[in-house]
Amino acid sequence: MESVACRAFVEPEFVAPYDLDIRRPALLRTLPIPLSHAMARAMHAAMTRAWLIGAGPGDVELMTLKATRALAQADVVLVDDLVNPDVLQFARADALVVYVGKRGGHPSTPQACIVAQMLEHARAGRSIARLKGGDPFVFGRGGEEQQALHAAGIEVEVINGVTAGIAAPAAIGIPVTHRDYAQGVVFVTGHGAGSGEPDWAALAATRMTLVIYMGMRRLAGIVGALLAAGMGGDMACAAIESATRPGQRHVLAPLGEFADAVARAGLGSPAIVVIGGVASLALARAAARAEETDAVDAHAADAVVPPPDTRSR
Ligand code: SAH
Repeated sequence: MESVACRAFVEPEFVAPYDLDIRRPALLRTLPIPLSHAMARAMHAAMTRAWLIGAGPGDVELMTLKATRALAQADVVLVDDLVNPDVLQFARADALVVYVGKRGGHPSTPQACIVAQMLEHARAGRSIARLKGGDPFVFGRGGEEQQALHAAGIEVEVINGVTAGIAAPAAIGIPVTHRDYAQGVVFVTGHGAGSGEPDWAALAATRMTLVIYMGMRRLAGIVGALLAAGMGGDMACAAIESATRPGQRHVLAPLGEFADAVARAGLGSPAIVVIGGVASLALARAAARAEETDAVDAHAADAVVPPPDTRSR
């Protein structure tokens, strides 16, 4: 029987020297018994970890404990666009961090190239954390990356993250479901055009909350399609930019005025659009706050008017 010694596991081409204690139990490093190549490969594969990790919408505190623990073990961290770099505080100081997003004016790395990098690191015995914004399986191409790793015989652990489609509405007090307003929620991309275009009329007919990712560039068209499908011009809408981050901004308006209001405010990506009765909760609250503010302003204006007996002096 063809056999190799267990020592093969710790040869430099398999693992970087720094990670021996983290991923290779001491017993395996010293065992004198020979192993078959097949067994060696199987054990190697079992010890090589790959995680698809959701980093959440931006606020570091919205990352899961499980995500931070996995990140703390990875040899290589492949960071996507939209991931708050602050989450890298949980990575090992000696981890190789590779940015594959397009932020900062750099073109994004083609998907095939990201997968190729993951495979290369995995085959070299390095554990990989693939960090994605929000949840890795919600419009994050996590499914495709999982397929590619599986096809190469590499197991992947998926660690959910808080998706922007729930976090962004919540950040301004909009629940995506509510018994009085919506029995369900539809997560949909606004990105597709032509044959990739969602069927907006069918979506309007569901009467569910519509949560639209990547919808800002085509917002006017989407609003037009929903109005044409019979959705009322008074339907409540919200757009939330950079939710849970320091630069968070939002616009609330009825559907008939929504596209103009968003354009006037200059809201851009990344943003989540919410269309549905649930958004009226935020609209009502904004209106109540505006009234309070007016009352306070009126009171403040009164306060600066000098009392009658001092005015004449
Ligand atoms: N996997 C991610 C979505 C990736 S698609 C998730 O689960 O959240 C990218 C789109 O997500 C952006 O165009 C935007 O529509 C939305 N998005 C991501 N982060 C966001 C944030 N902090 N605020 C608002 N929208 C965000």
